[in-house]
Amino acid sequence: MLACREATKLMGMQIEGSLSIADKFSLGLHLKICKGCRNYQKQIRLIHQACQLMPEFLLK
Ligand SMILES: [Zn+2]
Repeated sequence: MLACREATKLMGMQIEGSLSIADKFSLGLHLKICKGCRNYQKQIRLIHQACQLMPEFLLK
């Protein structure tokens, strides 16, 4: 089973779109059983979205 530290590393890779099928599978499995990592994933997704929006705000 994936450790939380490993899962958070995979989530970062997932956001960059560089996750393999096998990694996606183990991450998905971990997220099913680990509430802490589900919350963490929600947060990094929000942060990632905010980072993508930021340059547009700065240009206006
Ligand atoms: Zn976890």
